[in-house]
Amino acid sequence: MDRMAKGSHQKIARWKLEVEGIVQGVGFRPFVFRLAKKHGLCGLVFNHEKGVTIEVEGKLQILKKFTSDLKSGPPPLARIESIDVTELEPIGYPDFRIAPSAHAESGQTLISPDIATCGNCLRELFSPSDRRFFHPFINCTDCGPRYTIILRTPYDRPNTTMQKFKMCKNCAKEYEAPLDRRFHAQPIACPNCGPKVWLTDKNGRKIKASEPIKLAQELILKGEVVCVKGVGGFHLAVRAGDEKAVKKLRMRKYREDKPFAVMVRDLDVARELCCVNDAAEEIFLGTEAPILVLPRRSDSPIAETVAPRQKTLGLFLPYSPIHHLLFRGDLRYAVLTSGNLSDEPICHHNEDAFEHLKNIADYYLLHDRDIHIRCDDSVLKMFNDRPYFIRRSRGYAPNPIELGISGTSVLAVGAHLKNTICLTKGNKAFMSHHIGDLDNLPAFNSFLQATEHIANLFSIEPKIVACDLHPHYLSSQHAKKIGLGLVEVQHHHAHIASCLAEHKRDGPVIGLSLDGVGYGPDGTIWGGEILVCTLSDFKRAGYIKPLPMPTGEMAIKEPWRMAVSYLLEAFGEIPGEIEWDVEKSAVELMKQICKKRVNAPETTSAGRLFDAIAAIIGVRTTVNYEGQAAIELEQLAEPGEEKMLPFKLESGSNCVILNFFPTIREIVALKGEGTSAEKISGMFHKTFSQAFFDATKIISEKTGIKTVALSGGVFQNLLLLSQIKELSEQAGFEVLVHRLVPTNDGGLSLGQAAVAIAKSNL
Ligand code: ZN
Ligand code: ZN
Ligand code: FE
Repeated sequence: MDRMAKGSHQKIARWKLEVEGIVQGVGFRPFVFRLAKKHGLCGLVFNHEKGVTIEVEGKLQILKKFTSDLKSGPPPLARIESIDVTELEPIGYPDFRIAPSAHAESGQTLISPDIATCGNCLRELFSPSDRRFFHPFINCTDCGPRYTIILRTPYDRPNTTMQKFKMCKNCAKEYEAPLDRRFHAQPIACPNCGPKVWLTDKNGRKIKASEPIKLAQELILKGEVVCVKGVGGFHLAVRAGDEKAVKKLRMRKYREDKPFAVMVRDLDVARELCCVNDAAEEIFLGTEAPILVLPRRSDSPIAETVAPRQKTLGLFLPYSPIHHLLFRGDLRYAVLTSGNLSDEPICHHNEDAFEHLKNIADYYLLHDRDIHIRCDDSVLKMFNDRPYFIRRSRGYAPNPIELGISGTSVLAVGAHLKNTICLTKGNKAFMSHHIGDLDNLPAFNSFLQATEHIANLFSIEPKIVACDLHPHYLSSQHAKKIGLGLVEVQHHHAHIASCLAEHKRDGPVIGLSLDGVGYGPDGTIWGGEILVCTLSDFKRAGYIKPLPMPTGEMAIKEPWRMAVSYLLEAFGEIPGEIEWDVEKSAVELMKQICKKRVNAPETTSAGRLFDAIAAIIGVRTTVNYEGQAAIELEQLAEPGEEKMLPFKLESGSNCVILNFFPTIREIVALKGEGTSAEKISGMFHKTFSQAFFDATKIISEKTGIKTVALSGGVFQNLLLLSQIKELSEQAGFEVLVHRLVPTNDGGLSLGQAAVAIAKSNL
């Protein structure tokens, strides 16, 4: 009996395993091949649009072992989402092989983001005996471009921009050898068959050079502006220690003060420029290779012009072989900033670069591997040793974000500024790379292309389109023309929903949506909101006391205008001690606009309050990039045991109203006494945080809700974020802080999508 039972277990079985997740372009099939060989199993493995299918034939016990090994040890970049096993009749496979990709009907495969050059490739890149010594396009199944070169699924070479390069014999051999690190590495290339790099002058004339990258490096060291084609677009490179060179780039790019990022050769150089702790080191060495904004060292040799009036600096490490080659030898660090005109999308075709950058770049370092979809660098800060996104793009997009809910496929078109789009399928949200501000045609076209690309890659046919409530946003107007079911989502509800969605929550929470400006359902401009909300619905529970925003959008560019409004509310007049570099008549005009309320919509914006404070204490009266006054106010703050300034909490119709006019009065008095801007900024941060915390407590007592979600652009201010989080946690609140998507408008599309799904599930 016993022997019989044992015998039946030893019977040959055939299992079909359907694997879904990030399983293409990450060395998954060679891994399966090796695993099957190790267990002595026969069968096959192949890619298709939904993932990877494995068939294995062998003894049942071994099939089980194979499956558990498959789950426990996939290649580092693979992410198995599910394995579906079915038993089939054995057919007697003679061996195990990797079969050609099958073309299925609908796609579900997760396309990997672009991946920074791996350690193995780097070693080969710098080994004189390797056949890819100094080859600027070295890659393998563990690294290289993905998202930016794929034209369509499945992820196979003919479906990428590598289609035009015919593999040489040696490359083909590696490509076809299941045990090779480059087995089916779609962008595989070598000096004989791969793309080429060349250097041109600013008129596009090729410059003869045996080592164009080395020459580009010399030009950068000389102080020239060199345009460098990379993975997701072009960068403009210039010496970062050279005040004159950086100023030249700023002038040509019409970018006055907005900080530039600096690429550093390695971690040692990063440590010379910034304070790098273990958590930051981990991010630097990760496969995503984002720009990390870190505290700048006081003895950092970087030119002040790189990041004027900032205590921080954005650094990133080389992430493609071209960058590694550019930074070998004498070049240890350099500014590398997006190759675009201010406000336009980053260039990604050689012709675009010549056309758009002709008055900026002195030289061009180009190559002929096309970038199908542009992808800017991602930007992160560290908050409590965890990444905190400012921009989620290259290295992260299009990795899906898993939602706690599932439903109809939605297209969310995002916000107007820092636009991203989001498409959902089941419980997965596919957010695009950073698209940018939608106020020019190239950006809008890029928005359309991104939408189509992601829909195609993941075979998503949205049934619902979600957009911002703002009637004038280009994205909202586009959404209304698509002809799908429309869900309009209030801007600040979407912010809190994005925070809820990434935490797989659906509320109710007390949401602090502290932001620049967003369209309120009452037609006024919201931005300093406390919402009691779930994914599907919200109620306004608190807000900053409204006041006129004179000249509307213009007040964003000129914070002194908002200061006039605050001073009038606080004093009824502009106090004599306030002095600005603004014409007296202009101030007078602003006063009239505020008083008569013509072209002065009401606002509750938190960002505008920060602007006003910055203007009042003399940080700056005008800005030349978004949020500059508030950012500089934060950088200035000297947190410590400073005193609390007065504020008032008033009760309105079911709402707590936060009145900061007494705060303004005290700030003007302090300034009159000669208190430093640093001290006042510290006091203001403390007061603002306390006011919002006190309001939260009142709302919590009324509603019984003990969870707080923090979102909105103002929470890019880490001082404020940590203060509000700490106060809330000390009082026993659970605090939800962003960790997967930006707190600014870059994360808005996720929130819109989550709201639309939740509403349609009602
Ligand atoms: Zn590699
Ligand atoms: Zn080759
Ligand atoms: Fe916003």
